[in-house]
Amino acid sequence: MATDVLDVIRTKRDGGALSDEQVRFFVEGYTAGSIADEQAAALCMAILLRDMAPGELATWTQAMIDSGERLDLSSVGRPTVDKHSTGGVGDKVSLVLAPLVAACGAAVPQLSGRGLGHTGGTLDKLEAVPGWQATLPTERIVAQLRDVGAVICAASETLCPADRKLYALRDVTATVEAVPLIASSIMSKKIAEGTESLVLDVKVGSGAFLPEIDRARRLAETMVGLGHAHGVRTVALVTDMDAPLGRACGNGLEVAEAVETLRGGGPPDVVEVTLALAREMVALAGLPPGGASDPAAALADGRALAVWDAMIRTQGGDPDAELPVAPIRHEVRAPAGGWLRRLDARAVGVAVWRLGAGRSRKEDPVSPSAGAVCLRKPGDEVADGEPLLVLYADDEARVPAALAAVEGAVEIGPEPPAPRPLIVERIA
Ligand code: URA
Repeated sequence: MATDVLDVIRTKRDGGALSDEQVRFFVEGYTAGSIADEQAAALCMAILLRDMAPGELATWTQAMIDSGERLDLSSVGRPTVDKHSTGGVGDKVSLVLAPLVAACGAAVPQLSGRGLGHTGGTLDKLEAVPGWQATLPTERIVAQLRDVGAVICAASETLCPADRKLYALRDVTATVEAVPLIASSIMSKKIAEGTESLVLDVKVGSGAFLPEIDRARRLAETMVGLGHAHGVRTVALVTDMDAPLGRACGNGLEVAEAVETLRGGGPPDVVEVTLALAREMVALAGLPPGGASDPAAALADGRALAVWDAMIRTQGGDPDAELPVAPIRHEVRAPAGGWLRRLDARAVGVAVWRLGAGRSRKEDPVSPSAGAVCLRKPGDEVADGEPLLVLYADDEARVPAALAAVEGAVEIGPEPPAPRPLIVERIA
């Protein structure tokens, strides 16, 4: 019997499992335009409410991969390993990690997207570097991986076109948060990119996409399962995103902090998360532990910084150029003295977005210089009236909405907060 789109929707609406044929019929039909947006929206909502079984999800993910091209990185000549973060506030780790892991001997093919909402996108951050180009043809991606070892660039239109359509639809139908849809969206792109191994940084806490640990863990487990099912060695770390990572939030400000980290400095939390992920990547790539492939050594001795310089130059950027500086500066001061117990990542992320660093629609421009710097972090003792945060903007008119976002973001008390581990769980 021929598959019918209404049967597909009804099956999921009533809690049934879709057959392989139904899944392929839907993903192929929606990508080709023979299934309408409203039908796809109904199915996404049914999946959000009814979930998907592992077998269904594996077929769904394979159909998304098969909707476009798959990169062949076999000529790169080094083990390939990538990293994906589910996104956080001040999360500039990819900028450090890609050159760092390349300096340890692997090749890091990081095909990325742009930021939407309160978490920044890696491409938006790198575009703050004068001259840097996000778009590269496939042959240049492969050549850069062979010669430099790391590339961060835009995924081409032909990589998982099914995901492009589905993600845009989910964004306007309140169905982004469905765990199987998130997992298949992320993993189809990473598998199609051709990496042999993958480390996932799944964020948990107020600034994360899925703030609760149960859902973050489920997402991590689902993505690790999909990676294994598709022959990609995959490990996930669940890491804390209750406070911004590091001090700088916003595109150019984060690049500056990433470079500081590549120079062997940087905030301790950025260094800790970066090294934890780098060690997982080096191990998955099968590089020998210690010696030339020890990430801490490659950070300290300048090798990672040298790869960063080469990575930026190869994509037309000038790593020595001054980064743009926002003309408007506004301090947020402590309302009382005591211990800084909380600095809410989501509130800071929304403020940074309202200052102009993020976008609401995918075609919006972003500011390279707007953002915030956290002068104090949870666990610091602060004096009444001392500056806690500095907001940066290109336009004074943006500041009041950002101030409204950070109102209530700060909690000061007489006791220091209980320490929170940064690396919450490891799922392999
Ligand atoms: N990032 C993606 O690439 N896809 C999702 O569904 C959510 C976050």
